Amino acid sequence: MNKTEFKQSFSQRLAEKFAMGVADASPNELYQTLGSLMTSTYSQDWQQTWTDYREAEQKQVYYFSIEFLPGKLLKSNLLNMGWLDMVTEGLAELGINLDDLAEVEPDMALGNGGLGRLASCFMDSIASMGLPGNGNGIRYEYGLFKQHFVDNYQVELPDKWLQKGNLWEIRKESKAVDVRLGGKVFMSDNDSGNLIPNYQGGVVLRAVPYDTGMVGYQNAIVNTMRLWSVEIPPEEEENYRSIEDRRTVEDLTSVLYPDDTSEDGRKLRLSQEYFFVSAGVQSILRYYKQLNRSIDTINRFIAIHINDTHPAMCVAEFMRLLVDDEQLSWERAWNLTKEVMSYTNHTIMAEALEKWPISMMGSVCPRIYQIIEEIDRRFVEEMTGVHDFDLIQRTRIIQDGQVHMAHLAIIGSHSTNGVAKLHSDLLKSVVLHDFYLLYPTRFNNKTNGIAMRRWSQLANPALSNVLDKTIGHLWREQPNDLRLLLNYVEDDRVLAALAEAKLENKKHLSTYIHEHCGIKVNPQAIFDVQIKRLHAYKRQLLNLLHIMKLYLDLKENPDLPMEPRVFIFGAKAAPSYHYAKSIIKVINEAANLINHDPMIKDKLKVIFLENYNVSLAERIIPAADVSEQISLASKEASGTSNMKLMLNGAVTIATLDGANIEIRDAVGEENIAIFGLTETEVYQYYENKNYSSLSIYQDSPIVQRVVKTLIDGTIPNIVAEGYEIFDSLIKYNDEFFVLRDFEDYCLAQESVNKAYQNKRHWSQISLRNIAHAGRFSSDDTVQRYAEDIWQIEPVFAHKNDRGVEHDSYLL
Ligand SMILES: *Cc1c(COP(=O)(O)O)cnc(C)c1O
Repeated sequence: MNKTEFKQSFSQRLAEKFAMGVADASPNELYQTLGSLMTSTYSQDWQQTWTDYREAEQKQVYYFSIEFLPGKLLKSNLLNMGWLDMVTEGLAELGINLDDLAEVEPDMALGNGGLGRLASCFMDSIASMGLPGNGNGIRYEYGLFKQHFVDNYQVELPDKWLQKGNLWEIRKESKAVDVRLGGKVFMSDNDSGNLIPNYQGGVVLRAVPYDTGMVGYQNAIVNTMRLWSVEIPPEEEENYRSIEDRRTVEDLTSVLYPDDTSEDGRKLRLSQEYFFVSAGVQSILRYYKQLNRSIDTINRFIAIHINDTHPAMCVAEFMRLLVDDEQLSWERAWNLTKEVMSYTNHTIMAEALEKWPISMMGSVCPRIYQIIEEIDRRFVEEMTGVHDFDLIQRTRIIQDGQVHMAHLAIIGSHSTNGVAKLHSDLLKSVVLHDFYLLYPTRFNNKTNGIAMRRWSQLANPALSNVLDKTIGHLWREQPNDLRLLLNYVEDDRVLAALAEAKLENKKHLSTYIHEHCGIKVNPQAIFDVQIKRLHAYKRQLLNLLHIMKLYLDLKENPDLPMEPRVFIFGAKAAPSYHYAKSIIKVINEAANLINHDPMIKDKLKVIFLENYNVSLAERIIPAADVSEQISLASKEASGTSNMKLMLNGAVTIATLDGANIEIRDAVGEENIAIFGLTETEVYQYYENKNYSSLSIYQDSPIVQRVVKTLIDGTIPNIVAEGYEIFDSLIKYNDEFFVLRDFEDYCLAQESVNKAYQNKRHWSQISLRNIAHAGRFSSDDTVQRYAEDIWQIEPVFAHKNDRGVEHDSYLL
C-alpha cells in the first residue's frame, strides 16, 4: 500500500465506522479507525501464520506468564508492519499528528515491572525472529493501579484500561475451555481397570480466550498472545442466584496482584494461577490432538515455558491431562512432561520464592494437589539411596505443610535458567545449589534482553536519525551493527550530533516535567535517572541520601563547583508495602524542599514523576544522561532498564549486580561507574554475621549528618516516615547495606560529575555505551532459548516458498 492508497483507505474506513470526515473526528475516533485498518490488514498474515504452523507441524513454544507488560501497541505494530513512515506522512497530509492518536491508546499494563516487560519483549522478538511461539496469560479487567501523589503520598487508582474497548484483541468464544476449581476428588477404577477421578462439588468455570496478534518485524509473521478471561458457563447460570455469587467468579480475572515479590492475595491468587495454567494447557492439548499424532510424540511438537514459578502448576496439569484423560501410564506421562516443560527463575531472594499451604492447594485444585503429592513421593523414592537423606528432604516439593513451586518447576522440567550470568551462577552455587547437585545438566543461563526496536527506533527517533546518518540503517535490523559507531569515537561531528539529539530529548522531557510537576528544569543539567519498582533492595534510599549530601554541601557552600543535576525518579510501590511507600513520601518531601530552596537555584532539582509505566519509560529513557543501577550486589537478578538506558546513551552508575556486570564487560571499566560491595563481600557479611550499620554511622561524620536529615526536621512533614527509615538503617541494621555502600557511591557520583565537565569526553563515553548495547537485544536472547531450551525453528524457509517478502502488506 502506498501513501495515497493509505489516505484513501483511512478516510473511507473513518466514514464507514463513524460516518464522519477527518475534520470532525476526535483523536479517539481517528485512533480506532487507524487501528481497525491495521488489524484488518495483518489478520490475513495472522491466519496464514496459524495455517503455516499447523501444516508444517512446526514445534511451537507456549510462554506462560502471569504478567505481560506490552505498553502501547499502535506505533510498534506500525513499525513492524513497515507502515510507520507511510502512516506518519499520510496522516500529516490529512492534518493529523500520529502522536496525538498514539496518546489515546491506554497502556496495556498487565504486569508490575521487569518480569512482565521481559515477557512482552520476548513476544515481540519471538515473532520478529519468525519463531513459532505464543503467549499465555490472564486478561485482567484492571491493570496495574494508576499512581497519583496526594500530599506527597502514593495514592492508587484503578486502571480501567478496557473501558473504551481494546481494538487489538479478538474474543475467541469457540476456543473456550472449562476449568474446574474447588470441590473434592476421589479415584475409582473404570471398566478397563484404569484409575479415574470422580469430582464432587466445586465449580466449573469457563475460560474464554482473547487473542492479540504479535506482529513480527516486517516478516509477515503474526503470533498470538492468548489471555484468558473467566465467565460463568451458560449451563451453570442457574447456580448463580445473587450478585455476590457472580462477583466471586468475576473476581478471578479482575485484578492483577500489585506485587511481584511478597506473598499477597493468597487464595484468589492461587486460583488465578490454576485458572490460566489449566485453560492454557487444555487448549494446547486440544490443538495437538487435531494434528492426529500419537500423544507419545507431543514433546516433538510442543514446548511449554514457565516464566517464574507462578505457572509451575503446568507440570501437574499436563500430567493430569495425560494420565486422567489420555490414560497414559505415569512413567510415560512423566517423561513427556519433563521434555515439554522448561522454567526460568527470576529471583534470588529466598522470601520471594513462592510457596502454598497444602490445605489451600488441596481446596483450590484438589486433583492437582494429589498429583503433586505423587510427583513428590516418586521423587523421594527415586532419589533415596542415590543421594543423602538431608539433601532429599531439602529438595522435595512438599515440606513443612507447603508446596514449593520452584521445586515443582525444577523437578518437572528439563531446563532451569537464570537471567544473567551472576544470577545463574548464584543459582548453582547458593540458592538452588541442592538442585544443581541433583541435576547439574538442567541449569543454564539466558541473560535477559530488550526489544531494541521499541527502546531505540520508537522511543528515540532523534538518536535513530543520527545513527542512520552515521552508520547506515542496518543497525535497525542487526543491533550488533551499532558497534560500527566505535569508528566515530574521535569524530567531532558525530559526537556533537549525539549530544544534540540528547539535548533535544531532554528538552522534550523538560516540557513534560513542567506540565506535570510545575517545575522548570534546565536541559543542560545532568539528567540522572532511577526508574524501576520501589523496593528496599533496589535502594532508591541510597540515591536519596546522596541527594541530601549534595543539598547539605550546597547549603554550606553555594559556590561548590558542581555540574547542575536533575534527579529523576519513577517508581510504584506495592500498595501493601508500607516501607516503600514511606520512601516515596520522603523523596517527594525532599524534592519539594530542594526544588523551592532559593539558595540552590538551578544546581539541584529532584523530580518524582507519577505513574511510572512503559509509556513514561519511553519518554524518560531517551533523555537520560545517567542510569542508576544501584541494587545491593546479589539482589537484582538481571535488570533490564539498565540495558534500555545504555542503548540510549546513558552512562551507568552501578553495583556489580545482575546484568550490570555484563554491561561493564561490554563497555569496559572506563565507560561505567562501578562502586560498592561485591556479591562475595555481601555473602561474607552474611556468613560472618559481622555487619554493623551502627558502627559505620558512629564512625562516619558524613553518614551521620546525612542520615540525621531523616529525623532532625531538615526534610519537613516526614516525622513518622523519617523515623521508620532511620530505624531501618540504624536499629534494624540496614538490611541492604545502604550505609556500607554510601561513601563509595558518593565517590562514583563525583567521578560522574567530573566526567560530565568535559562534554566531548562525556559524549565519547555515551557513544561507547550505545555501540555496545547490541548484545542485549532480546532477538538474540530468544534465539538462544529457541536453540538451547525449546528446540524450535523459524518458519522463514516455508514462508519464502510462498514468495512472501517484506512488503507483503498490500490491501
Ligand atoms: C524495563 C521496565 C522495568 C524493569 O526495570 P528494572 O530497572 O530492570 O527493574 C519496569 N517497569 C517498566 C515500565 C519497564 O519498562
